[in-house]
Amino acid sequence: MDISKRVLQMAESATLAVTARAAQLRAAGEDIISFGAGEPDFDTPSHIKEAAIAALREGQTKYSKPAHGLAVAKDAICEKLKRENGLTYAPEQVIITVGSKMGCQHACMARLNPGDEAIVPVPYWVSYPELIKLAGATPVFVKGEESNNFCLEPAQLAAAITDKTRLIFFNSPSNPGGFSYSPDQVRALAKVVERKDILVVSDEMYDRLIFGEQEFLSFAAASSEAYGQTITVNGGSKAYAMTGWRIGYSAGPVQNIKAMAKLQSQGTSGAAPFSQIALALALTSDQTAVEEMRAEYERRGQYIWQRLDDMPGLKCIRPTGGMFAFPNAREAFNRMGLSGSLEFCEKAISEAKVAIVPGAAFGSDDHLRFSFACSMENIDEGMDRLAKLLA
Ligand code: PLP
Repeated sequence: MDISKRVLQMAESATLAVTARAAQLRAAGEDIISFGAGEPDFDTPSHIKEAAIAALREGQTKYSKPAHGLAVAKDAICEKLKRENGLTYAPEQVIITVGSKMGCQHACMARLNPGDEAIVPVPYWVSYPELIKLAGATPVFVKGEESNNFCLEPAQLAAAITDKTRLIFFNSPSNPGGFSYSPDQVRALAKVVERKDILVVSDEMYDRLIFGEQEFLSFAAASSEAYGQTITVNGGSKAYAMTGWRIGYSAGPVQNIKAMAKLQSQGTSGAAPFSQIALALALTSDQTAVEEMRAEYERRGQYIWQRLDDMPGLKCIRPTGGMFAFPNAREAFNRMGLSGSLEFCEKAISEAKVAIVPGAAFGSDDHLRFSFACSMENIDEGMDRLAKLLA
């Protein structure tokens, strides 16, 4: 029986594949150090868990009513977006999704048609091109200069826009790059898209994990025009260590959110109510745990960056947010006679027992992605092994 062309042309998630391979090797008794998953190694803070347990005890075990999200959770999301992002959204401008990945998927499905183009800045999060293709549209890749911390220049973005462009994915802080756009850079890009028939999907999963002097501005906060053209995507997975709860949200123009809600009513029927209630509490209660996790990511990020940047053949930009370091390893690949990131990662896992995600999965075969959502001991041991491999 044939599989649909839609699915045949899709790639599987490389990050999930690397994580699964590391887990499989570990189960077979191998001592693997994994830098694969962008998944917090912290547990969900206990007050959030308690809220879900209480909700379950109170009978929150049925469908989400309505499917696009419980009023109490939407109110909490509106409060968060106002308090932290300076964005005023009404509850009808919000949809709660089964993870934020689903928000990205709904945004594409509700916006794109075959023949449309969607711009994807490179390096990109693995899922963007596949979600665009799933919606029948064509991804158009625009590579940020590494000397500019991979950030797109307004002229580069302008040059990529055609009369077929309907959507742009924007992601800051970046997975995989670890870089972030400054508020001025966000405003400059917003100017390029303002008053064009282009929807910006601003993936702000790492907005709470900003390091040092870096400042964050939501794309929708760049101007009133940008606000009207942007869907802001976020969720509980990273800031609150809630990956397994499958809880995300999107906020934007009412007509887009309504279309996304229609899709959701025929798809997942919405996020689990107890996950929504837990997210509501996470967003509105004491944020000390978020700051503690952020500070620890920053500490690890600075450490892994220094170790990577000191290795022969690697050059790494300093992470300014999120949980990833993304060194350029082209010199090392050439010296070792390797074609690129895929061959290097294969060698790293089989010889050094270190799991790394190849940059090719994010649009750049010269790079390697290291998640630092793991302990300092893990980072230290992994860096020692990598140093030996590169010596
Ligand atoms: N967007 C980015 C940039 C991510 O890194 C991730 C997870 O790795 C997601 C979205 C999806 O997160 P979730 O579906 O767990 O909310």
